[in-house]
Amino acid sequence: MLRLAIQKSGRLSEDSLTLIRECGISFLTSSYKLKTEATNFPLEILYLRDDDIPGYVQDGVADLGIVGQNVLVEAGLPQLEIEGLGFSKCRLSLAVPRAAGYDSVADLQGKSIATSYPQILGSYLQERGVTANLHTISGSVEIAPSIGLAEAICDIVSSGSTLLGNGLREVETVFRSEAVLIANQSLSPDKRELLEQLQFRMQAVRRARR
Ligand code: ATP
Ligand code: ZN
Repeated sequence: MLRLAIQKSGRLSEDSLTLIRECGISFLTSSYKLKTEATNFPLEILYLRDDDIPGYVQDGVADLGIVGQNVLVEAGLPQLEIEGLGFSKCRLSLAVPRAAGYDSVADLQGKSIATSYPQILGSYLQERGVTANLHTISGSVEIAPSIGLAEAICDIVSSGSTLLGNGLREVETVFRSEAVLIANQSLSPDKRELLEQLQFRMQAVRRARR
């Protein structure tokens, strides 16, 4: 039996469940359950916080997972990625106060930047020879400049309206993300076989959607 971890409740949840169902896999869900077993495929689904999914798959607590590439790369486990799933597309961007001057990333030298993605942002800046003070905060990153906590932010942007509402403008795209299927790297031959069946179905679903 394969164990697949998906996000319990959030932006990945619905599309993850839909994908599994479109693969012809039936199961019951209820909001208080932490796991469920499929009735017509040897699959158990675990419902977790997205941040915990890469670590659980790496450790083998779950065999597979569906998670955003942003969370996977931030966790330092990009090697677990099997394939992109084409949903939950978003980008991680740098933004500065609307009134602040900005020409290039070099302008961030020595500045303080609030983010929930210190690893991804850190390597982006390092590749460009910029040293900044990164403040890691887990939520409401956009308000950091207005309360004097940072001079810039790096956060997930979808529409840009949250940035606008906080007097910020987007200046650089740091990382582009989508949901990905991830797998433990030492699956048994039986589980590998089941993973191949599942991937085959997922690919068929994606082809049919196009
Ligand atoms: P959890 O409670 O599980 O920790 P969370 O609040 O960290 O949830 P969500 O906001 O539900 O996470 O986002 C989950 C993932 O969905 C993100 O890591 C990212 O990959 C993707 N995502 C985030 N914002 C958007 C968006 N606006 N549009 C599309 N995908 C997004
Ligand atoms: Zn999370």
